[in-house]
Amino acid sequence: MNLERIDEVVKNQRSLNQSKSNFSLKERLSLLDKLEKSLLKYEKEINEALYEDLRKCHFEAQISEFLFVLNELRSAKKHLKKWMKRKSVKTPLIYFPAKSYILSEPYGSVLIISPWNYPFQLLISPLIGALAAGNRVVVKPSEVSASTSKVISKIISETFDESTVYCVEGGVEETTRLLDNRFDYIFYTGNGHVARIIMEKASKNLTPLTLELGGKSPCFIFGAQKIDLVAKRIVSGKFFNAGQTCIAPDYILVEDKHYEELVNKLEKYILKFFGKNAQKSSSYGRIINERHFDRIVELIESEELLYGGESDKDDLYISPSIISAKKDSHIMKDEIFGPLLPIIKMQNLKEAIDFVSEGEKPLANYIFSEDKKIVEVILDRVSSGGVTINDTLMHIANENLPFGGVGESGMGAYHGKSSFDLFSHKKSVFASSSSFDPPFKYPPYFGKMRLLRWLLKFFG
Ligand code: NAD
Repeated sequence: MNLERIDEVVKNQRSLNQSKSNFSLKERLSLLDKLEKSLLKYEKEINEALYEDLRKCHFEAQISEFLFVLNELRSAKKHLKKWMKRKSVKTPLIYFPAKSYILSEPYGSVLIISPWNYPFQLLISPLIGALAAGNRVVVKPSEVSASTSKVISKIISETFDESTVYCVEGGVEETTRLLDNRFDYIFYTGNGHVARIIMEKASKNLTPLTLELGGKSPCFIFGAQKIDLVAKRIVSGKFFNAGQTCIAPDYILVEDKHYEELVNKLEKYILKFFGKNAQKSSSYGRIINERHFDRIVELIESEELLYGGESDKDDLYISPSIISAKKDSHIMKDEIFGPLLPIIKMQNLKEAIDFVSEGEKPLANYIFSEDKKIVEVILDRVSSGGVTINDTLMHIANENLPFGGVGESGMGAYHGKSSFDLFSHKKSVFASSSSFDPPFKYPPYFGKMRLLRWLLKFFG
């Protein structure tokens, strides 16, 4: 990629924002329409690219990438008129007859940088929000998922004029060049190390940003009764995309009495979902590349394996695996981001809560319990980006729930209307009237304080 070209396009997008009116409702709907048509046209190629990059099976690719995004797009089109409406707010009587309202204004030029694990969804979903909010956008797909990056680039260049949406393919060099340019908003999804680089770059121009990061998302199993169902739901969430999901359950904290039964049931569902040899299952994905494969295999070698542990480097295959862990095990240090599921026995709920609270705030928290009091205690004591109770992953599926992290797992949240709000500056407008001009607010102020206090008391 020609780096000078990047500067040229970004500067052009910014200068158009300064010299032209914001995109109207009609224009935004037309951009979303065009995007929808292109996505439908390239559906097959998108699925094929996801298969090439991650061996993502058709079902997973559809529900977590293609249909997910299509649903988001259609919902934005349906609600955009309402979302764009100015929002009237109350004005204290003392300012009568003034009016007050909030306008949703596009930031201007938005940069979206996305990762490789859901390479289509994590780029197109924020793009929908940014376009709905009226911005011009530059997108940078992950170079690690090269096939999907190529399809995205083709879709963007065929669908949009580069002054509206532009796709930059590439890695560190291209991203660094992009970040040396000035944007009005940056949206980054990926790891915390790169997030720090991006935040530092953004600080030069005080550019606001959203960081969608990861972390170690726990499963609490306390006061649960249906261990069979618990195991089924954990296995389905953990091994989706071969464990390479930002909100995958990272590890399990289970009360002593359910430990044995839980391990047996987890094994039962791994077998039921993926068969004796998951490598032959058409429902099981692969590790993205050799670097991540080596990292995950190394983790297995240092732990006490209860189930699985097979791998094949030529095929980038690692089997669904269960590990018996302790609070200070090596596997408990960083986000696993692979198909290894550590289980830690806990003496009581307090020990489990203290353990999670002492670490960094996770992106997701999973609470399996039939006891409402236990659920409330965990909700109160454990901070996390989001929570699903008695299941895994599901809070991401409801677009009415803002999705994002807190602390080390990120900042800012999107999906549905939250995406529109995230990519809009909320401009406060106070519209005064020229028909009435009370004299008490003007100098000289002498003797007006008592009147002001009185007015504030009764009309403020
Ligand atoms: P990645 O390696 O694809 O990197 C993400 C993006 O950062 C890419 O576009 C890449 O080109 C860019 N990048 C890499 N190094 C850079 C540098 N030095 N300077 C500038 N840009 C750079 O993906 P990753 O970071 O390995 O993604 C996995 C992580 O993302 C996990 O921690 C996961 O939990 C997290 N994640 C979070 C979410 C979420 O929604 N919160 C979703 C998916 C993944």
